[in-house]
Amino acid sequence: MSKIVHRSLRGTLPFAVSAQGVHITDHEGKQYIDASGGAAVSCLGHQHPDVLAAMHAQIDTVAYAHTSFFTTQVAEDLADTLVANAPAGIGHVYLVSGGSEAIEAALKMARQYFVETGEPDRSVFIARRQSYHGNTLGALAVGGNEWRRKQFAPILIDVGRVSPCYAYRDQLATETPEQYSERLAQELEATIAEIGAKRVIAFVAETVVGATLGAVPPTPGYFKRVREICDRHGILLIADEVMCGMGRTGTLHAVEQEGIAPDLMAIAKGLGGGYQPIGAVLASTKIVDAFRKGSGLFQHGHTYIGHPVAAAAALAVQKVIARDKLLDQVKARGAYFEKKLRATFGNHPNVGDIRGRGLFWGVELVEDRATKKPFDAALKLHAKVKAAAMQAGLMCYPMGGTIDGERGDHVLLAPPFIISEAALDQVVERLATAIESGTRALK
Ligand code: PLP
Repeated sequence: MSKIVHRSLRGTLPFAVSAQGVHITDHEGKQYIDASGGAAVSCLGHQHPDVLAAMHAQIDTVAYAHTSFFTTQVAEDLADTLVANAPAGIGHVYLVSGGSEAIEAALKMARQYFVETGEPDRSVFIARRQSYHGNTLGALAVGGNEWRRKQFAPILIDVGRVSPCYAYRDQLATETPEQYSERLAQELEATIAEIGAKRVIAFVAETVVGATLGAVPPTPGYFKRVREICDRHGILLIADEVMCGMGRTGTLHAVEQEGIAPDLMAIAKGLGGGYQPIGAVLASTKIVDAFRKGSGLFQHGHTYIGHPVAAAAALAVQKVIARDKLLDQVKARGAYFEKKLRATFGNHPNVGDIRGRGLFWGVELVEDRATKKPFDAALKLHAKVKAAAMQAGLMCYPMGGTIDGERGDHVLLAPPFIISEAALDQVVERLATAIESGTRALK
């Protein structure tokens, strides 16, 4: 029996023994198409030679240097690249080892900013229901996924909560998308007023919702109104682009498509493409300047921040994306993928919604298409679809709304940016098989 505490302690996992491009092969020689990039991580696919070479070179030079003694050229170069391509106002980078760490650091930066600038009474974050920001305690606290947080709720900080931006479920038939955005903006205003505007530190949101809802983009104008409201009350905006960022939606940052710039942005997954554990907080100059002028430090730190091999991997990934014009490819392949998904599932009796951007797509599964009635959560359709997909040689990322009124099963798709049209055809074919056998198993 495995000595590892795996995510599930029941059943066994296949061993990944080799990987190449968009495929992973297991110990029995079975090949899987990685249509979810793991969990929206593998943007360049597996074993990209340029990234491996950059990591080897860094390992041979300086594999590790603690950041209380040294910086490294590779970490500085990565920060320069990230700042050069960041939204307006972002001037600094804090390098960590993953998405949850990035969120934790962003929350603490936001809090410390108000301590440094003489507003220590600001102590409350506002975030959305049905969101996911990571599994460490601060990130779990701001996250609004009840299944993940319920048993830990007694040890989490209190957070103000507003609705997600989830048009398929929540936009009224009588509303335009813009009116729906405005209704959500009013809800945020009301929640701020209830808490007291001067007590709120920041509003935290995924630009495109990933794990909990399955690639749900915001409705038009939503983030513009959020930005205005935050500015009016002196509240910071933290964009969580751990999953949807770094090119996944067709622009480097998803906020670019919303026409706004956050004060702090968490990135991870696609930053290092899975070659090394790495995440980052992109921080506005205003925040870091306040630290510089005030205490002179950011009161935080981990042993592996700014890790040189992780920085080398991320820098190489970002260089390949720029050199090979992969953002254009995300847009083009994304348009192809959308067409295939809509052609195959557009009239499927158990597919209620197909949504996404770039190479980031969600397919929501329902018992009744007309009424949008979800499957009974207890049936765990998402788990059945995942098992059937693995059987069919497909890695995808199904999730289910399981408790406390969270609605619907969905499948998240986030293939590597280098995927071919032929491989996308195979993804859609195998997904159709998986959905068929998953729903058949319920009957
Ligand atoms: N934020 C979002 C939006 C995520 O999707 C995730 C992971 O799925 C995280 C944060 C946490 O990242 P990690 O698993 O690297 O800690």
